[in-house]
Amino acid sequence: MGRLSFINEELTAMKEAGLYGNIRTIESPQGPWVTIEGRKVLNLCSNNYLGLCSHPRLVSKVKEYVDTYGVGPGAVRTIAGTMSIHVEFERRIAAFKGAEDAMLLQSGFCANLAVIPTLVPSEEDIIYSDELNHASIIDACRLSKARVIRYAHSDMEDLKRVLEETKGQGRRKLLVTDGVFSMDGDIAPLPAIRELCDRYDVILVVDDAHGEGVLGRAGRGIVDHFHLHGLVDVEVGTLSKAFGVMGGVIAGRRELIEYLRQKARPNLFSSALTVPDVAANMAALEILEESPELVERLWRNGNFLKEHLSKAGFDTANSQTPITPVMLGEATTAKEFSRRLFEKGVFATAIVYPTVPKGKARIRAMVSAAHTEEDLLFAVDKFSEVAKDMGVL
Ligand code: PMP
Repeated sequence: MGRLSFINEELTAMKEAGLYGNIRTIESPQGPWVTIEGRKVLNLCSNNYLGLCSHPRLVSKVKEYVDTYGVGPGAVRTIAGTMSIHVEFERRIAAFKGAEDAMLLQSGFCANLAVIPTLVPSEEDIIYSDELNHASIIDACRLSKARVIRYAHSDMEDLKRVLEETKGQGRRKLLVTDGVFSMDGDIAPLPAIRELCDRYDVILVVDDAHGEGVLGRAGRGIVDHFHLHGLVDVEVGTLSKAFGVMGGVIAGRRELIEYLRQKARPNLFSSALTVPDVAANMAALEILEESPELVERLWRNGNFLKEHLSKAGFDTANSQTPITPVMLGEATTAKEFSRRLFEKGVFATAIVYPTVPKGKARIRAMVSAAHTEEDLLFAVDKFSEVAKDMGVL
């Protein structure tokens, strides 16, 4: 297989460098504990922040909607028509977030692809992008012909510098930033970014994937967290994390959403979310609308885990959210650490290059509102045992 020989060569090289991802098979529903290879292990990997992935209310809403509406959406919405449940969800999530309107996409990844190349498609346009932005933002920028200028991570001086340097240039300008940076857990300085965007006349897009259901009142997101309602042009979100389901959301002014519905290619050329997705998202939204309790529990658990890991001597970097990175350095160390944790009953994947820079490999511990303090203390014990065995503290 001469023409495909690069595949085996590259896979072997990845394995040797410790960069090959062994994907575990989960035999149970997603939850604080999962079954893998017939063993129950503590789950510290998923973005199931609020424990909603297998929540009974989501499951029963799916059954109810499937009995009424079937399963599939038929085709893309502009051709097959749009189902009333999708429209209803959009109305309710917009109201929840305090936005004029919202649009439902197939995933957070698709939502970024829908926003960026649509608003700034041309080589005459300029995109300013935080250097640590998520891969879906990077790919969305690549789908645009605009000039992409990266600025140093959340560094307002550097951002001001690039804005000043490009003053008077370009047709349209757009800045895009993660709201919560997924690998470090820090929050973008959105009020300062917005001020600069206003001053330099730049469209502001925030990808709130890890802030949706986590930040703000009862999980209303980063705009609510900073009281910036109506002041951020485009809010992108995902329903695959705290909402526990799948789907992307774009929220903003009515005419912006209307424009994206008419022009964004993921809406024009890919079918809508399925009925079970919409049903489960609706139930998740109802749970958030009714009570902030799950979000509060998530934050309590995040702080509890960070505090106990730090006490045990681990470096949890500068996370400001429940995302808890445990810094380990080299990819091979992080992979071995993760393997040993798994043997002791803790499922916590190593995050290595290219997801994080070389030399900054880590275990990213993801807590959920569904974990108990006992679960988290079990995790800290196992982290300490492995660290001692490997001599890494
Ligand atoms: N944006 C960010 C910042 C993310 O962390 C993620 C998920 N890793 C996505 C977008 C993609 O979301 P989804 O899984 O819904 O495609």
